[in-house]
Amino acid sequence: MDLYSACDWYDAAALLTDDERLVLGRLREFLEEKAKPLVGDYWERGEFPYEIAQPLIDLDIMEPAELTRDGEKARGIYHGFRIFELARTDASIATFYTAQAGLFRTAIRVGASEEQKKEWMPKVVDFSLKGVFSLTEPESGSDIAGGLATTARREGDSWVLDGAKRWIGGAFTADVLAVFARDVADGQVKAFLVPREAPGVTLEKIHRKTALRMMQNAHITLDGVRVTEADRLHNVNSFKDVAAMLRAMRSDVAWIATGIQAGAFEAALKYVREREQFGRQIGSFQLVQEKLARMLGNLTSSLSLVVRLTEQQEKGIYRDQDSALAKMQTSLLMRETVALAREVVGGNGITLDTDVARFHADAEAVYSYEGTHEINALIVGRALTGQSAFTK
Ligand SMILES: Cc1cc2nc3c(=O)[nH]c(=O)nc-3n(C[C@H](O)[C@H](O)[C@H](O)COP(=O)(O)OP(=O)(O)OC[C@H]3O[C@@H](n4cnc5c(N)ncnc54)[C@H](O)[C@@H]3O)c2cc1C
Repeated sequence: MDLYSACDWYDAAALLTDDERLVLGRLREFLEEKAKPLVGDYWERGEFPYEIAQPLIDLDIMEPAELTRDGEKARGIYHGFRIFELARTDASIATFYTAQAGLFRTAIRVGASEEQKKEWMPKVVDFSLKGVFSLTEPESGSDIAGGLATTARREGDSWVLDGAKRWIGGAFTADVLAVFARDVADGQVKAFLVPREAPGVTLEKIHRKTALRMMQNAHITLDGVRVTEADRLHNVNSFKDVAAMLRAMRSDVAWIATGIQAGAFEAALKYVREREQFGRQIGSFQLVQEKLARMLGNLTSSLSLVVRLTEQQEKGIYRDQDSALAKMQTSLLMRETVALAREVVGGNGITLDTDVARFHADAEAVYSYEGTHEINALIVGRALTGQSAFTK
């Protein structure tokens, strides 16, 4: 099946197996038929189309039956293209799905003990335990490693959490919030699964967003919230363990930044083939073609980068600087690609009717989350020079 004719110039999808293509084809059909027609209106209203959430879960795309028949896990390249496909349709839908399939699942995979994993992981995969990743705070984003101020105080077999979390995506529909808090006894960061409806937990929607308007982000207040020791992620004992989670999650965001470019590029290409000015298709003009070529160059560079990163990770090579470089570079290229797409669509490029406006606006959130450009650049710089340029 020809999944990605225009936007996969060097045929990276050739790396997929027939079964993987089948699952991705199923996802594409769903997104084209059920999701795409809804996104413009929901984006404008700043609401998420929850009616597609369960059907999307029912598609069985996290660890699809077809790809896990022999008790194996789905391959990294499949996961990457799944994220690409979601983001190619809409960045909020990709972020919503990745909150569970990427962020929360990674929190459990890296942070839970073997015993906890045995209990929780099947529920994470079939979505019967929905969770989110609650790390960022109102006063600490980039400097969260040192600045994390939410506290955890042990009282017998329980912990008491106090503090606030900001920007937490998907929190309103989660069963549990994976909350990172600093143990007042040893000063180390620990993690807890907090039921969303636990006494002392308050969620407020963040309003007036100009990017990822469909995605619902929460400001969370934790006021004397009690969690049992059994609900602490037993393998999180310092920020180093959180950094291991971020490493995996940044790779997913690099795939999102690549998928957004594909969506914006395809929408722009369609438009320039249809729109006429000066009696000709605007796609026939040299200056428009130069922009198309730049978009395709950015997209192809990004796709090549994430595919290679995923191959490295499949071999077990995980380094902070690798996913930081991928997140930094794909996001930088994404910003240019969506701006060029918006440009070739002219005035219509700022209405929700042509798709590029949505990609253009949403890209700004993706550019900043999961480590800003500067923070990811500093991680790469530290690896290159051996000198940490983060300031205290
Ligand atoms: C839509 C959205 C969804 C999100 N979802 C989640 C989520 O689900 N869970 C979660 O935990 N978090 C989430 N976040 C938070 C996100 O990870 C943070 O926004 C991000 O880490 C940046 O933090 P900040 O916004 O506080 O910016 P700040 O840290 O305040 O940074 C502001 C600016 O200062 C720059 N800066 C900071 N320090 C330095 C330095 N040392 N050198 C140079 N420049 C520097 C930054 O690069 C940036 O340009 C989300 C954010 C958004 C926008």
